[in-house]
Amino acid sequence: MFKHIPPYPGDPIMSLFEAFQKDHHPRKINLSIGLYYDNENNIPVLECVRRAKALLANEDKPHTYLPMEGMALYRQMLQETVFGKDSPVLRDKRVATIQSVGGSGALRIGADFLKTYFPGSAVWVSDPTWDNHQVIFAGAGLEIHAYPYYDELTNSLKFEQMLGCISTLPAHSIVLLQPCCHNPTGIDMSREQWLELIPVLQQRRLIPFMDMAYQGFGDGLDEDAWAIRTMANAGMPFVVSNSFSKNFSLYGERSGGLSFVAASEAEATTILGQLKAAVRRIYSSPPLYGARLISTVLGTPELAAQWDAEVAQMRIRIRHMRTSLQQLLQHKLSEAAAGYLTEQRGMFSYTGLSAAEVDRLREEQGVYLLRSGRMCVAGLNEANIEHVAASMADILRA
Ligand code: PMP
Repeated sequence: MFKHIPPYPGDPIMSLFEAFQKDHHPRKINLSIGLYYDNENNIPVLECVRRAKALLANEDKPHTYLPMEGMALYRQMLQETVFGKDSPVLRDKRVATIQSVGGSGALRIGADFLKTYFPGSAVWVSDPTWDNHQVIFAGAGLEIHAYPYYDELTNSLKFEQMLGCISTLPAHSIVLLQPCCHNPTGIDMSREQWLELIPVLQQRRLIPFMDMAYQGFGDGLDEDAWAIRTMANAGMPFVVSNSFSKNFSLYGERSGGLSFVAASEAEATTILGQLKAAVRRIYSSPPLYGARLISTVLGTPELAAQWDAEVAQMRIRIRHMRTSLQQLLQHKLSEAAAGYLTEQRGMFSYTGLSAAEVDRLREEQGVYLLRSGRMCVAGLNEANIEHVAASMADILRA
């Protein structure tokens, strides 16, 4: 019966993570998957989350179903976190938001929705992008193309070519953009560049799909949402997927959101209805515990302030690791060798290492990067950074 089913070759990121777990190298270091580790090499439980957990344990509420669109308080808190408390689009009730199964679930529901209502539209993603973007959008039956983004020669953004490409797209093309901490390159657009791009998106009637998985890991919770808020102020329709996996360190609780910014309250209400229908068809209603934790934190001013501070701690630690690795590499190689580390932001850096160099780094030194050369900087700590720098320098010198 099932003989014709081909084997799954595996996901490139997840397979590497599995290989890491099986590796017996005494100094193995995982800088492949997008997980934030603290300086003691642990995936942290944030203090604000710990306190919310204690409150919830005390309340001992029943584990009932959530509505299709998710928990009301969670959705409201999410909207305020993404769009800002005083956002005009929230005041005008022009945003339809559902709670989603992580950022990935938001991308898939959004992709399905767009495929249904814009069947002729293709999606354009940055070259390169997070591998799963391609898989998710292709899974929804959308045609995928790439716009220029990363310049290998200079390890920087090809903004002119990017803008040139997007300026030729047919109306209703879907343009996937990352408002902060670009995965996988760590290279973000500047505010000036967003201000050039946004009118093009608006005038050509394109559908921006803003995917924000690292809010707070770049410059701050509000600062990282700047492009989204600027788009909202421009009075144009767009889509946002956001994830709390990283900034709440709640990866497995699958907490995210999908928001459509519409032209009117009535339009937003209709969209919300269809999003609910989409959820009902696939998994009926979203998971409860992550939403309870996050809405408890964000709905309690003291805990919300603590979250802000803990996100800042994670952000500062990542920056510190960037500077330290840069200094170590510059010391071992040359001044110019690692300038990219502090220009890029968020959890990831494109190191410029080739696939062959990444393979040697893993096989000889137990240091795991993605074969694209992407390094998860958030996996570095005071104890492993010397070994990583020395291993990279050895390979780059060879
Ligand atoms: N978008 C981007 C750019 C990501 O990097 C990730 C996570 N790696 C996601 C979406 C998905 O987030 P989640 O793990 O919450 O599904």
